[in-house]
Amino acid sequence: MLQWQPYALIPLSGAVVCAVVSWSAWRRRRSTPAAKALALTTLGVVEWAVAEAVAYSFTSIEAQVAIGLAIYPGVAATVLGAFWLSRVIVDRDATLRPVVKALLLVEPIVITMAAATNGWHHLVIASGKLVGHPPLNVPHVGVIFWLHSAYSYVLVTIGMLRVVKARRTATGLYRRQLTTVLVGPAFLVAVNVLTLVLLANGGAVDIGVIGFVASGVAFWWALFRQGMLRLVPVARSFVFDRVTDALVVVDRDGLVIDVNPAADELIRLLQPALPESLIGLPSLLLVPGNGPGDRLADGGHVVRVGERQIDLDIRSGDLTDRNGTSIGRVVVARDTTELNDKKRELSAANDRLHEQLRTIGRLQADLAEQAIRDDLTGLYNRRHLMRTLDAELARAQRSGGPLSVVLLDIDFFKRVNDRFGHGVGDDLLVVIAGVLSAAARQGDTVARYGGEEFVVLLPGTTPEQAWNRAQEWRRRCAAASVRTEQGPLSATFSAGVACFPESGTSSVVLLHAADKALYRAKAEGRDRVLLAESLAA
Ligand code: GH3
Ligand code: MG
Ligand code: MG
Repeated sequence: MLQWQPYALIPLSGAVVCAVVSWSAWRRRRSTPAAKALALTTLGVVEWAVAEAVAYSFTSIEAQVAIGLAIYPGVAATVLGAFWLSRVIVDRDATLRPVVKALLLVEPIVITMAAATNGWHHLVIASGKLVGHPPLNVPHVGVIFWLHSAYSYVLVTIGMLRVVKARRTATGLYRRQLTTVLVGPAFLVAVNVLTLVLLANGGAVDIGVIGFVASGVAFWWALFRQGMLRLVPVARSFVFDRVTDALVVVDRDGLVIDVNPAADELIRLLQPALPESLIGLPSLLLVPGNGPGDRLADGGHVVRVGERQIDLDIRSGDLTDRNGTSIGRVVVARDTTELNDKKRELSAANDRLHEQLRTIGRLQADLAEQAIRDDLTGLYNRRHLMRTLDAELARAQRSGGPLSVVLLDIDFFKRVNDRFGHGVGDDLLVVIAGVLSAAARQGDTVARYGGEEFVVLLPGTTPEQAWNRAQEWRRRCAAASVRTEQGPLSATFSAGVACFPESGTSSVVLLHAADKALYRAKAEGRDRVLLAESLAA
């Protein structure tokens, strides 16, 4: 006989809550493996709770026992789901070996089959009797029930211990999430123990389902409200464990709470003698040469390990809880040795390049200077003279100012060569070039025109001033001498002075006029300076 039972409300409300949680978790199944595990766990609770609610709604003992046996697939799925859930919450990437998977499926199949065939062996539920009003079945449970309960508690306990262990080393938000995750099972254990005690003492209503409902909700809360789904699998597996920088989490007392694999590797390189587990060690021990009381400052550090030198770039940040209270620090260290080596190499290459560029610059300047200088005397050469003369003429034309050109030729130079040799002739050329250079003023250009002929450009100088200056040079030349085996040797020169604009306005005409004056000077007996005819007239 089917009859409405108020007791059915307990499992029914649990079924509704778990159905919602299961659906919500299933929808998020792609975000984290934990979502699928939670969906399975809570779906198991739904089946279990619905079967229980239906069983309570029958007034005959046979119906209550028969339908009550239908809870076992759900119970088995719940336990299995919870076991799996505890694994993927602690380690997102956890996988079960096929053989373990197969073994885990054995018990659910066995208990389901045992429940289905209970009518023959009565090993799950031995008998039942209805008590109270409304009447409830008080089952007398069999040996398979106890075996199944023991097995289920072992699995759930293993799962919980796994979460407890993970919680011990977890920090911050992850720790809070694991705490939430543990609240549900704690409630579950309490409720189930109570149910078993009730059962053993002739109680009737199975309130064990409430424990699983509470667990399901707690898991759901941790996963979807506290952000475990979004944050922790990402923060823990993908960021903390996989980041290539060394990360060390230190508590308020400076003790290591957590290190990522990169930090473990780096620390072992720096301090090979440290114990296997770094958790709980003073963080200052991690880097050699760090005396007690020192706090590893942020910035670059150079650490010597045997022959090697390791460059570390260290940054740290305070970790605070929701109230802003400091709960520790996270230290990030990066091995920058390779990077710094490359930087140093690059900097050295850069320095070499700059030095080479400076040398090239110097050589280019030397080359440019050589191109305009005469090798023997060091005076400007004819090419440079012609360029300068054109430029000075253009300037004189613009300003209307005078520009004098003095052309000098050494007297009887052939004789010098003939009597004293070419070498002495060269020395004499150098001495006379020196006299002309020394007498030059700013703006003047002294050039070797060819052979033993020189030209001096005197911008802003009138013919008379030029003549006077050339006379002065003549006197100084006569006074200068080169040493020869036969005693000091000096020479005179003859010179012609032409001037812009009177003698001409082009370089060719000006030089020609000066040359003519020079020719006259030679003809008139040498060792003299003559003005070009246009000027003298
Ligand atoms: P003059 O008084 O008429 O000028 O007589 P000169 O002997 O000086 O005649 P000229 O100017 O024609 O002779 C130039 C000589 O200068 C010819 C050449 O042997 C000599 N000479 C030209 N260049 C050089 C040089 O670089 N070194 C030397 N030692 N002699 C040179
Ligand atoms: Mg000559
Ligand atoms: Mg001469």
